[in-house]
Amino acid sequence: MQYLSTRGGISPIPFSKAVMMGLASDGGLLLPRNIPRIGKETFDTWSELSYPELALEVMTRFIGDIPSSDLRDLIKKSYSGFRHPEVTPLVHHGGLHILELFHGPTLAFKDIALQFLGNLFEYLLEKEGSHLNILGATSGDTGSAAIYGVRGKTRIKIFILHPHNRISPVQERQMTTITDSNVYNIAIEGDFDDGQAIVKSIFSDLDFKKHYHLGAVNSINWARVLAQVVYYVFSALHIIKHENDKAMDFAIPTGNFGDIFAGYIAKHLLPEGTIHRLILATNTNDILARFVTTGDYSKAEVKATSSPSMDIQAASNFERYLYYLMDKNPDRTSEAMRKFGEEGKLDLSSCREKIKRDFAASAVSEDEVAATIQQFSREHGYLLDPHTAIGVRAGLQHQKSNIPMICLATAHPAKFSDMVKAATGIEPETPEVIKDIFTKEQRCEIMPPKIDNVMDYIKNHALTSDDE
Ligand SMILES: *Cc1c(COP(=O)(O)O)cnc(C)c1O
Repeated sequence: MQYLSTRGGISPIPFSKAVMMGLASDGGLLLPRNIPRIGKETFDTWSELSYPELALEVMTRFIGDIPSSDLRDLIKKSYSGFRHPEVTPLVHHGGLHILELFHGPTLAFKDIALQFLGNLFEYLLEKEGSHLNILGATSGDTGSAAIYGVRGKTRIKIFILHPHNRISPVQERQMTTITDSNVYNIAIEGDFDDGQAIVKSIFSDLDFKKHYHLGAVNSINWARVLAQVVYYVFSALHIIKHENDKAMDFAIPTGNFGDIFAGYIAKHLLPEGTIHRLILATNTNDILARFVTTGDYSKAEVKATSSPSMDIQAASNFERYLYYLMDKNPDRTSEAMRKFGEEGKLDLSSCREKIKRDFAASAVSEDEVAATIQQFSREHGYLLDPHTAIGVRAGLQHQKSNIPMICLATAHPAKFSDMVKAATGIEPETPEVIKDIFTKEQRCEIMPPKIDNVMDYIKNHALTSDDE
């Protein structure tokens, strides 16, 4: 399988190159040349596969340059640490199927992609005899999942900036108690945007970036999307086997359009009609829901909500879907992205029919989030985290009586225990993995929000060619 840029400015590259490139060098996003369609007969033979076995089958369709036995080892290593034998089990409550994606080390679905990406980076760097210094800013969840993905790896160092004293104590300690020597936590005396701005300007210093082999782990890496396709296929097989239904809907809480884009790939990978609709669910930052219902893709102010991982107004993976919407025409895609960059809005109302073939959408208010958490706890004895509650609410709104609805549970309720407790009066049980983080040793560098301080710190600690 070869990869192309949504903006048409690179010649086709194999999977490994696409992973190491991250963002395409022409500023676009990388996509496989085509989405292969799995035949009905092949699909039927997958029904007894374990999660890692299935991951190998799915990923093989998109990877041409990693030997199968190596890929099998990478997958095995990535998912052996999950706390559930099925990796992403389905549970059944209130007429819905809930796909629990939070059994990884940091209790959020980002582990599924980042455990794999960390191992993949290590493998590819080993092959190239190279190294990588990862730099990123986090408002909470992504940072810890990224750190857990690469901790202890010898060819990788990771520098993660978070806003000092402005993330939840659990989120902070999930990062700062990782004391592996390749992990550097930097607490910036400022807010998330200060950290983000520092990271952006360091990446724009191309000489510095090249000299220190700087890389990112943000949600636009194709390998992250690919790892997420697997659980759509896994749960679809489960529904077909146990519920005897052939078609199903998925409800997905969305911020950066990453998780739901993986669903879009799965929809076009599986036999026609297996995935009927993808229900896109946002919080009050509703740009994506507005896009699906009216074709209006226009930025508004970001509002802080109880589902912080979805407080986003310009979805970094949106360009991938836009490319399909523009009939895979890179010129039209580039033009639309340029226009959005300048004006902060796009009118895609002429594409509404096409959008509706794949998606339906709801925006969920803060009151509805709390009410859904409370109702689910009271009626079904099951605690939802605020992100998951948004998907569940949207799933209930769009549910059709004869089609199973699978709601993606993206975080463990204990990660947002204050909100869950306020809505239900019940304190979620703390999983073993985060029980001891309040007594563990912490390591973190506190810094003023200045580019030079962060750059100097990287210079002093980064891996360089001399380390190889
Ligand atoms: C990141 C995140 C999301 C949103 O996922 P996207 O891929 O950005 O759409 C939803 N829920 C949780 C808990 C997250 O951490």
